Amino acid sequence: MKKESGYGFSTRAIHTGNEVDKETGAIQRPITLANSFQLPYDPTTMNWSSADGNLYTRNGGCNQKYLQQKIADLEGGEDCVVLASGVAALSGLFFALLKQGDHVIFSSVTYIAVYRLFHELFNTKFGVETTIVDTSDPANVAAAIRPNTKLIHIETPGNPTLQISDIEEIARIAHENGALLSVDNTFASPYNQRPLEFGADFTVESMTKYINGHGDAMGGAIIGKKEYLDIVRAQSQVNLGGVISPFNAWLIMRGSATLPLRMKQHNENAMALAAYLESLPCVSFVAYPGLESHPQHELARKQMSPGYGGVLSFGLKDADHDTHNRFVSNLKLILSAVSLGHDETLIVFLGEDDERQYLYPEQFSNGFFRLAVGLEDVEDLKEDIRQALEKTGLL
Ligand SMILES: *Cc1c(COP(=O)(O)O)cnc(C)c1O
Repeated sequence: MKKESGYGFSTRAIHTGNEVDKETGAIQRPITLANSFQLPYDPTTMNWSSADGNLYTRNGGCNQKYLQQKIADLEGGEDCVVLASGVAALSGLFFALLKQGDHVIFSSVTYIAVYRLFHELFNTKFGVETTIVDTSDPANVAAAIRPNTKLIHIETPGNPTLQISDIEEIARIAHENGALLSVDNTFASPYNQRPLEFGADFTVESMTKYINGHGDAMGGAIIGKKEYLDIVRAQSQVNLGGVISPFNAWLIMRGSATLPLRMKQHNENAMALAAYLESLPCVSFVAYPGLESHPQHELARKQMSPGYGGVLSFGLKDADHDTHNRFVSNLKLILSAVSLGHDETLIVFLGEDDERQYLYPEQFSNGFFRLAVGLEDVEDLKEDIRQALEKTGLL
């Protein structure tokens, strides 16, 4: 079932990639754990590195392929490659596209692995030139362009400052200069934002987060044109080997059926908690693109709909390092753990000395929290924060 079918997002989240199993009549496709498939009569003419047929699960597994159909459809892309994790998808895309002497521009606010890959690894190991840029202003991107710029990589909303970058404008700058644009869409999920519709060449998702949604499987996806994704499959899947396990692909297939329902609740809960936190005198700032106080709220409205996702960051006024940790330890319901997009709400204290602090806005310099709002009753979440602030002596 394809998007051209005219079905809505929720219908496609349930049906695309699923079929009645021909052998058993089961109405959910089974997990195929076998790692090898029967060869034809004369196998000697086969390309052992091909990702086209059923050959060996590293060349493409059954459950991987079903999931790829769904994710391509939800992001509105021609093709999709699903790999073992979000980082496998990011590094797999970069590895396939870039070669020695190419130049990359990347956001100053990205997932930490992207910073490592471009700031420490691709540049020193492979001779790829890299420039870190505050992409919240497209003029900075335009100013960083070089004749050899091959790729611009942004994350919007960006982790952990919730900064927004203008996908349409940056895609225009990329294409005018013969470069490609990839967008990490993990914080928004395809329910709230589909970067390909704004001209991006690639969307990357950590499916570990909202798309799976239950905090029990890892996976990553790259969505874009087949001409490029065939290279990703050949180089980064078959030859680097970052393949997803059939079980994880199956779990994510199942989790993703409820993506629209869950995102509605994440959007609603995060908006309510952002407004609640902003109303508290002990809170120094709240960064959430759905708030009118977010400096790029208008841009967020333009490219995100119907909501702004479940992640926000906030700071506490006049709180020292230990006070931040005491506040977290006084929470009863909200868990201190990394990750996001789970059913349960998670919080992380990111201290004053984060190594990328120099790239964050001033208000983040006193230490701050990233709150990944879950699906609980929002009144319970508010009460948990209220009682923890009170117990910490902040309310
Ligand atoms: C978690 C995350 C990743 C990495 O995904 P993994 O599945 O953990 O490898 C990449 N980008 C963003 C924005 C993320 O939040």
